[in-house]
Amino acid sequence: MMNAPVLRFAPSPTGLLHVGNARTALYNALYARREGGTFILRYDDTDTARSTEEFAHAIARDIGWLGLVPDRVERQSDRLPRYDAAVEALKASGRLYPAYETEEELETRRLSRRRRGLPPLYDRAALKLTDADRTRLEAEGRRPHWRFRLDGRKVAWSDLVRGEQTVDTATLSDPVLVRADGSYLYTLTSVVDDIEMGVTHVVRGEDHVTNTGVQIEIIEALGGAVPVFGHHNLLTLPSGEGLSKRLGHLSLNALCEEGQEALAVAALAVLTGTSLAVEPVTDLDALAAKIDFTKISRAPARFDPADLDALTAATLHHLPYPAVADRLAALGVGGGETFWLAVRGNLARLADAPRWWAVVEGPLDPAVEAEDVDFLKQAAELLPPEPWDGEVYTAWLSALKPASGRKGRGLFHPLRLALTGAESGPELKALLPLIGRERAAARLRGERA
Ligand code: GLU
Repeated sequence: MMNAPVLRFAPSPTGLLHVGNARTALYNALYARREGGTFILRYDDTDTARSTEEFAHAIARDIGWLGLVPDRVERQSDRLPRYDAAVEALKASGRLYPAYETEEELETRRLSRRRRGLPPLYDRAALKLTDADRTRLEAEGRRPHWRFRLDGRKVAWSDLVRGEQTVDTATLSDPVLVRADGSYLYTLTSVVDDIEMGVTHVVRGEDHVTNTGVQIEIIEALGGAVPVFGHHNLLTLPSGEGLSKRLGHLSLNALCEEGQEALAVAALAVLTGTSLAVEPVTDLDALAAKIDFTKISRAPARFDPADLDALTAATLHHLPYPAVADRLAALGVGGGETFWLAVRGNLARLADAPRWWAVVEGPLDPAVEAEDVDFLKQAAELLPPEPWDGEVYTAWLSALKPASGRKGRGLFHPLRLALTGAESGPELKALLPLIGRERAAARLRGERA
C-alpha cells in the first residue's frame, strides 16, 4: 500500500501572499486533503533581514481565508540545530567547502569570464586553497561562506507536471549554502526539512526547476529519500508581468477586502493555466477533485482579476447556506436558510446581503405610483391569512389577477415597488413569506413598514 502523502507550502514571510502563491498552496493542500495525506505550512524564515512576524501572521490569516487548515506548522528559525547537523555532515563528507571571495571579487570574475565568452560560473578557486591560504585569509579578517560541491552530472526526475526533466549540474555554480555570517540559505534548509518531515511530494513553481537539480544532489548527499517533484506554471498579471510579493501584486488580502469570495479566488488560482474549464465550485473538496497535474499548461498563464467579479457572483449563487451562515450572522443578516436561498441568486458580493435583509425587516418607504394606489389597496386586502408558506405568493396572485384584471408588468411592477422599494431584486415569491403579512399589507397601503 502507498503511504499517505506529505506535502508542504513553504513561503518566506517577506511579503503578502499573492494569487500565484495561493496556486502553490492550494495544489499542495488540496492534493494532500484529497489523498488523505498531511499538509504542512512551513515558514521559510531563515532570511532574518527580510522575514517579519507581521508577514508570518498575514500568511496564516490569508491561508485561513482560503479555507486551508495545515495539519502541522513549522518555522525554520526554530530548527537551526538541524541545519547545523546537516552542515557538519556535508563538511565531513567533503561536499561543503569554504570560500572567501567577496561579492565584488566574484562580480569581477564573472565579468572577466563573460568577456572571454565563458558562462559566468563560479570557478571553484576556493577548492584549490591550501590550509596556509585559509589561515592567511582568516587572519585578514575574512569569514568563509560555504559552497556545495556539485557532482556536475545530469540529474533527472519524472516531474508531475512537466514529465521527464534533466538538469545538468555541470552548467551551474556550486551553490552557497551557508553565508559568511553563518546564516543558512533556503536551498539547504528546505532539503533538510523535506527529508526530516518525510515530505513525499514537492509541488512548487517552475521558477524552481533548476533548484530541483541542485537539491536532488543535496538530498542524496545527505542520504535522504528523493521526493516526487512537480513544477507548475506561474501566474502573471494581465499584462504578462510576473507577480511579485514585494510589489504587492494581486494580494489575497486585497482581494478579500474587495469582497471577492475565497472560493472564487481559489478556483481561479487553481484552474487558470490548465486545460480545465474555469467554473465556480461549491467547496474545496470539489476543487480538490479537479486537481490533475497533467492538465497544467507549460506556459505562464495570465490571471485576470476582472474574471473574479463574475466568478465571485457565480460562486455565491450556488453556495449552500451552511457555508455562509456564520458570515451572514456577522453581517447582522437573519432569516436563516430561507432568506439565503431567496437572495443568493441576486448577489454580486456577500456584502450585498444586508441590503436585502433590510428590505425584509424594514422599515422601508414603499414606492407607490399614483395610478397604482387603488390596485395596491386591493392587493393588500387579498393577502391570504397567515400562516404563510412558500406558496403564498402563487395563491395571492391567483386571486389578485382576476380581481384586478391586471397582468404582466402592470401587475408585478407595482407590487415589487411597494413591497421592496426597488425596481428589481430577488423573486417576490421567495421574499413575500419573509416579509410577512403585517409588513406587506402596510407597504401595499403606502405606509412605511
Ligand atoms: N520559500 C521558497 C519559496 O517561496 C520555497 C520553495 C519550495 O517550495 O521549496 O519560493
